Amino acid sequence: MLYVSTRNADLTATLSQALRRGLAPDGGLYVPDRFPTESGAGFEGASALGAIATRFLAPFFQGDALEGELPAIVREAFDFPVPLVPLPAADDAAVLELFHGPTAAFKDFGARFLAACLGRLHRDARRPLTILVATSGDTGGAVAAAFHGRPGVEVVVLYPRGLVSPRQEAQLTCWGGNVRALSVAGTFDDCQRLVKAAFADPALAARRELSSANSINVGRLLPQACYYVLASLATWRRTGRPANFIVPSGNLGNVLACVWARRVGLPIGDLVLAFNANRTVPDYLATGEWRPRDSVATLASAMDVGNPSNMERLRHLYPAWRELAQAVSSVTVSDEEIRARIRTDRAALGQTWCPHTATAAEAYARLPAARRAAGPWVLVATAHPAKFPETVEPLIGAEVPVPAALARLLALPRQVTEIPATLEALGAVLA
Ligand SMILES: *Cc1c(COP(=O)(O)O)cnc(C)c1O
Repeated sequence: MLYVSTRNADLTATLSQALRRGLAPDGGLYVPDRFPTESGAGFEGASALGAIATRFLAPFFQGDALEGELPAIVREAFDFPVPLVPLPAADDAAVLELFHGPTAAFKDFGARFLAACLGRLHRDARRPLTILVATSGDTGGAVAAAFHGRPGVEVVVLYPRGLVSPRQEAQLTCWGGNVRALSVAGTFDDCQRLVKAAFADPALAARRELSSANSINVGRLLPQACYYVLASLATWRRTGRPANFIVPSGNLGNVLACVWARRVGLPIGDLVLAFNANRTVPDYLATGEWRPRDSVATLASAMDVGNPSNMERLRHLYPAWRELAQAVSSVTVSDEEIRARIRTDRAALGQTWCPHTATAAEAYARLPAARRAAGPWVLVATAHPAKFPETVEPLIGAEVPVPAALARLLALPRQVTEIPATLEALGAVLA
C-alpha cells in the first residue's frame, strides 16, 4: 500500500517514508491511497488486541520495509489491556477504557506504536534521531514514555512553565536518560514556534536528524483504529449488531481512526463526536462553513483545539459537507455540563469520569431515549480520572485512586532544564 497527500494524490510515499516525514512535502497529511475491505469475517478466532491488530494492519504495511516486523511492533506497542466494560444500569452500553497504558491516556497507543516503528527504521542510521515535541500537557508524556530507553533516539519535550497541571508536569520530567524535558518561559504557542524554528534551522539540521511525533503522523492513527476493530468485533459477536461509538474529540485523531475502521468495513454504526466548548466542528457540521478559530480553555484541556488538523483528512474522505454531516454527528458540552455529568454519574452509576470522557458520557445521556435503547453504544474513555484530581476530586468528594503505573512515574525524581523561549536557548540544549 502507498500513502498520498490529502492535497495531491500524485505525491505518494511508502509507509516508512510517511512515518519518517510526518507531514507530506506539500504540507498535506498522509492518507492510505485506498482502503482494504474487511467486514470482520477475516478475524475469525482473534479476540485479543495483538492478534486483531496484526491482521487489521497487514494490508496497511504491505510492501513496506516494516512489513515483516509488524507482529513484533504490535507486541511491543500494545503491552497493556483494553477492557470493554459494560456500563451499569444502562441500556446496552459499554465503556472502552483506553487509559491502561503507561501515561493513563489513549495517546499511549499511538505514541508507543510510532516509537516501535521509528526505532526500527532508525536502527542502522549514523546520526541519532532527535524527536522534538511541543506539548500542552498530555502528548509529551505519552511520547516521552514511548521512546524512553530506546537506543539511537533522543526525545526533547518543550512545555510551557506553569501552564501544565502538576501531574502532567511530573509525567514530562520524570524520565532522564534519552528524554530531556525543557520548561519554557512562555506559552504552548511559544513552544510550538520554537519547534518549528528548530526544524527550519540549517545549522541544527546539519547536526541532528530531527523528527516530530505529533498527532498528524499516520503512525499514530493506524494503531488507534485497532481498538475500534476490537470493540466493534466484540460487540458484533455478542449482539449481532454494529457498535455505535461516542468519542471525546479535539484534534480528531481518535475519531478519524474509527472512521477508517468503519470505511474498511468493520461493523460500526453511528459515530457521535463529543466536543467541549471549542465548537469549530459542530458549527461546521451545522452550517457547512469552515471557520477555524482560537481555542478556548476548558476543563477537558486536551480537547482545547480551535483548528483541528485532522479535519483535512476527514474532508478528504467526505469532501461534501452533507456527506460528512451524515457520516458523523456532534455535541458540544460546556464546563458546567462536564462538572454536572461527573457528579451525576458518580452518584447514579458509581462511575468516575475524567473531564474528557465526561463529554462522551454527557453525549450519551442526551441521546433520545429510543436511539439510546436501540444501542449497542460504546463510550470511549480517553484518560484515567486520576490524571485530573484538581477537577474530579472536589466534584465527587473523594480521592481518585492512582493506577500503579502512574503512581510509579509520579514518585520518580524530576529532571528538567529551564530555558527562555528563544531558538538560541533551544539550540544550546541540542548542541
Ligand atoms: C488528546 C486527547 C483527546 C482528544 O483526542 P483527539 O485525537 O485530539 O481528538 C481527548 N481526551 C484526552 C484525554 C486526550 O489526551
